[in-house]
Amino acid sequence: MIKRILTGDRPTGPLHLGHYVGSLQNRIRLQKEYDTYLLIADIQALTDNFEHPEKLEANVFEVALDYLAVGLDPEKVKIVVQSMVPELTELTIYFMNLVTVATLERNPTLKEEIKQKNFTKGLPVGFYTYPISQASDITIFKAHLVPVGEDQLPMIEQAREIVRRFNRTYDKVLIEPKALVGQVARLPGTDGGAKMGKSLGNCIYLGDSPDVVRKRVMSMYTDPTRLHPTDPGHVEGNPVFTYHDVFNPDKAEIEDLKERYRKGTVGDVEVKEKLFKALNVFLEPIRERRAHFASKPGHVREIIVEGTRKGRAVAQETMGEVRTAMKISYKLQG
Ligand code: ATP
Ligand code: MG
Repeated sequence: MIKRILTGDRPTGPLHLGHYVGSLQNRIRLQKEYDTYLLIADIQALTDNFEHPEKLEANVFEVALDYLAVGLDPEKVKIVVQSMVPELTELTIYFMNLVTVATLERNPTLKEEIKQKNFTKGLPVGFYTYPISQASDITIFKAHLVPVGEDQLPMIEQAREIVRRFNRTYDKVLIEPKALVGQVARLPGTDGGAKMGKSLGNCIYLGDSPDVVRKRVMSMYTDPTRLHPTDPGHVEGNPVFTYHDVFNPDKAEIEDLKERYRKGTVGDVEVKEKLFKALNVFLEPIRERRAHFASKPGHVREIIVEGTRKGRAVAQETMGEVRTAMKISYKLQG
């Protein structure tokens, strides 16, 4: 049996460099080996954007464009829109019985995100329970592998717990998924924050034009203790060098820059100029493919509709098994 991958992204904006190294790279590499489902998680995006539902539709399209732009092949992967698979919502409700409030309270990512989002009108139950909904996303597709960034590990752990509990309580229907973290577990933001994130305004997007990339790189946070280019600087924990390490293939250039930075014989501008160049080389082919697909919106919509149709068929099959296992597959019509 060919194994499955399920992973996804919230349509809260286009995808960024963190997505690439955290998850997309693994998806591209594994798309030939695994039956791959990519969920555009619009219901999850609503949990903290419910007052701005108008953001979703355009971003569903943007995220799909990014998938195609990085080389995910629509002949191989299925792009699935979460709200168009209502079975996911049903499974979430059943899973809610298998999770305690205390478990959610302990979830470190959830705690961090709740703090960050600063819900002034109170914490919505929908947001609080998104790990349960995410467990449905993963398990309804019977995924074996989930390529994600490090921030999502507690969510995969939560899904594994639910699967064990479901299989023990009802019947062995669901598969315990494994997380696969990317080359960079958590890419920092351009503001020096621990994570580049769509909702944090500290991103370089995969579709950004050279001008925009240049501006974002030039305004990047570096070493706050270094006031002049002649001051010895810190390389560790400096996001400009983290990005160099990840995206600049010229290792000798990086070593030279690091050495001079530590000694205080290179300015931020030169380090950033070289980073901009490297990023641009990396982003150019992505940008080109993105423009190509963006010029055929009808074709992209067909890809999404077809992916969702195939995804829903899998979800319906799993739900048949789930209802039978839970003894709620009633035969009321004789
Ligand atoms: P939002 O701020 O709206 O939550 P996001 O940038 O965190 O957006 P998601 O759609 O929540 O993006 O995450 C999609 C996937 O990308 C997840 O697997 C997540 O772990 C991964 N990812 C997101 N940001 C990073 C990052 N900075 N480094 C590594 N992986 C990341
Ligand atoms: Mg996120």
